[in-house]
Parts: sequence; structure tokens; C-alpha cells
Amino acid sequence: MSDRFDIVIVGGGHGGAQAAIALRQEKFEGSIAIIGDEQELPYERPPLSKEYFSGEKTFDRILIRPAAFWEERSVTMLLGHRVASVDPVAHVLTLTDGRTVGYGRMIWAAGGDPRMLSCEGHDLAGIHAVRTRAHVDQMMEELDDVRNVVVIGGGYIGLEAAAVLRKFGKDVTLLEALDRVLARVAGEELSRFYEAEHRAHGVDVRLGARMSHFEGEDGHVTGVRMADGSVLPAQMVIVGIGIIPSVGPLLEAGAKGANGVEVDSLCRTSLPDIYAIGDCALHANRYADGAEIRLESVQNANDQAKVATKSIMGTEEAYDAVPWFWSNQYDLRLQTVGLSTGFDRTVLRGDPATRSFSLIYLRGGKVIALDCVNAVKDYVQGKALVVGGLAIDPERLADASVPLKQMAAEAAAA
Ligand SMILES: Cc1cc2nc3c(=O)[nH]c(=O)nc-3n(C[C@H](O)[C@H](O)[C@H](O)COP(=O)(O)OP(=O)(O)OC[C@H]3O[C@@H](n4cnc5c(N)ncnc54)[C@H](O)[C@@H]3O)c2cc1C
Repeated sequence: MSDRFDIVIVGGGHGGAQAAIALRQEKFEGSIAIIGDEQELPYERPPLSKEYFSGEKTFDRILIRPAAFWEERSVTMLLGHRVASVDPVAHVLTLTDGRTVGYGRMIWAAGGDPRMLSCEGHDLAGIHAVRTRAHVDQMMEELDDVRNVVVIGGGYIGLEAAAVLRKFGKDVTLLEALDRVLARVAGEELSRFYEAEHRAHGVDVRLGARMSHFEGEDGHVTGVRMADGSVLPAQMVIVGIGIIPSVGPLLEAGAKGANGVEVDSLCRTSLPDIYAIGDCALHANRYADGAEIRLESVQNANDQAKVATKSIMGTEEAYDAVPWFWSNQYDLRLQTVGLSTGFDRTVLRGDPATRSFSLIYLRGGKVIALDCVNAVKDYVQGKALVVGGLAIDPERLADASVPLKQMAAEAAAA
């Protein structure tokens, strides 16, 4: 392969797919290629720990677009290829098999690789990440022979996987190193609610958990040895402890960044004609008080894809999207809006015992985020409070009989 495309998109995930879709919507007529190291056409990643894992959705139903869509729009798919290096001066990238591809402009949408453990036994069979379809298919293939699963990490992916595994009747132990689940992303009330839900569904949640290493037999995991010497039996282990942004080739080519590649408000990296979007893009975010962050969400990947596209088309629009996210566990639908990092106060709206409530986060008296559990109205109406950075009396926020849209209207009129 020695080809050149006007636009090369690296990564065929949410951001990469949306960039190609948006370019054609904006009537970009040049050649477009997506280079992705997975074998599949772009698919939705969130169902991997939810409806795809549980068997409620087949793979066809999670494709972002059917095959014909990409053909009709002349988007060349170079799948099963990983980009190894980038020459930003010659505008050429090299694949791991040595082949080269030239580009006019590049959109780097390579997401991240799952962070794994390096302790003894880390490479035993039966230890899994949940990042790709291939990971989940492998887990599904093994499940029949599994009775005990240890999930490492009490973030969204670990909790979602635990919920599905309980549905399958597996014995699940969830290890979280910190003193509460979701500690990095949510307030204490939400953490305790989810901890109690998982316990009520039979998950053995262990907080402040310290593991030592994996034990195995004939190359397959059999258990997790804890620091106190006890052993948790496990024929399957799921590691959900975050990702390492996939930016090596860009940083080696001289792009600014470290834990991600730095981009400006138009998603441009410091290298000429190279944009970066999605999980790997380190950007200043006004909802994080201007701090440089990476956001790992479908919303962010899609919105940054549109920003990069507009910049390429010469109709610049700076990135300013309000972050949102969701998580499904058991019959609980969590929807979040805004970023709670740096909150100095929380307000509980509704009663967690009813399994429908919201946790509202404030900083300096202003609403910065909401976590809404089975509370879609609060989620929809609360967005205006976050976008406007509105200051609302906490006591009023807690009064679930007053709709949030009424508070937003009153605050805007004041
Ligand atoms: C199990 C799971 C559940 C999730 N649930 C939710 C959810 O409920 N809500 C939500 O908003 N978000 C969720 N997310 C996060 C969301 O899926 C990501 O934020 C989103 O996929 C990011 O899109 P992206 O395009 O940046 O990266 P990705 O979708 O990860 O795509 C990157 C692609 O680039 C490929 N790649 C990497 N390096 C190279 C290279 N050098 N050369 C070629 N290809 C490369 C990767 O293999 C991958 O296919 C979830 C993620 C996971 C894994």
C-alpha cells in the first residue's frame, strides 16, 4: 500500500467515524481514509459493557453505520492496520507493517489502550480488558466455564460489567483500591448508592482492596491473591482501571502533550495539519474551570469531530460543548451533565430509596454538574443550569416539587 488521501483519520471508533460523517455532511469532496487497527467497521463502544455483553444487542445493531454507508460516501476503510509513526514534514505516516500512507490533513482519533496490571500472573489467560469487540467476544466465549469473576476497578466499566455478570448468575467480587466506588467521578452519595445497589444484587464489593498478584494453573488464571494472603477464586478477571491515551506516534513526531496530545479550541495539535479528537485529546475545558483535561465520552468524541471538521472546512467553531455521559446498571439509568471535579457542595434532590433522584454539584454557589439516576427530567432541565453556570439556592434545588426548568427561568430573569 502506498497511497495518499486528502484526509486520513487514524482510529475507526466514535470520533473517527463521526469525523468522516461530518466531513461528507459539510460537502467535503476530497478523498478520505479511516485507518483503524480493529478489524470491524466503526461500532458503538458503550454497549460492550452493557447490551452487547449481556446479549441484548447483536453486533449489527451496534455498528455506527452499515457498510453501504461508507461505500456510498467514498470513505476508504483501511482496517486491521496500526499507525506506527508519523512524519509531519513529509505528511506521511507509516503502518506497523512498514507500508506508508500520505495525507493532506490528518485527524488523530486513536482513543486509548486499556491500562493493565503488571504484577505476577498478569499475562495468564482469562484476564480481560473491556475495550474492543474482540475483548468482549473472547469473554463471552469463556463464560460458560466460569463461576467466579473478580472485577478490578470500581469505575463505570467495572460496575457495568459486574451488573451484567450478576445477570448471568456468576459470583462476582469487585475490588476497588479507594474507599468508595466511582471515587474519581462522583460525589460520595452517588458512590454509596451504587455500592449498596451492587451489594443488594449479590456483588461482593471490597473497598480499600489491596491485591498482590494473580494465581494460575496451566496458563489460566485461577484466583487473585490479596495483600493479606487470602485468595479469591476466579476463572475470569476483568480489569477496568482506565486507559492510556494512544498518542505515541504523535508525541514521537514532536506533538506537544504527555497524558494525551494537546489541542487548541479547534482541535489542532502543535503539528501542522494534524488534528486530534476524542479520548486522546488534551484540551482546555471551560466546564473544568479552564483546566486541561481529556474527556472519555461519546459526546466529546462526536463534538470534537465536528469542531475539527469545521476547522478543516474553514468555518471555524471553537469547542465549547457541555459534557454529558450515561451509565446503565441493573434497572438504573444514570445520566450526567457537566463535570463535578472541584465541587465544594452537593445537594441531594429526591430520595435515593425511591431509586429516582439527582445529585447536584455546586462550586462557589453555581451549579456545575448533575448526576441523575432514573431522573430524566432533572437531566434534561438541569443542563441549562450547568451551561449558564447559574447560582441557585441549595434549599430550592433540593425541593423536588419545583421543576429545574422553573429555577433556570427564574435565575435567568433575575
Ligand atoms: C466498555 C466501555 C463502555 C463505555 N461506556 C460509555 C458510556 O456509557 N457513555 C459514554 O459516553 N462513553 C462510554 N465509553 C467511552 C466511549 O466509548 C469513548 O469515550 C469513545 O469511544 C471515544 O472515542 P474515540 O474515537 O476517542 O476512541 P475509540 O472509540 O476508542 O476509537 C479509537 C480507535 O483507534 C484505534 N487505534 C488506536 N491506536 C491506533 C493506531 N496507532 N493506529 C490505528 N488505529 C488505532 C483503536 O483500536 C480504536 O479502534 C465507554 C467505553 C468503553 C470501553
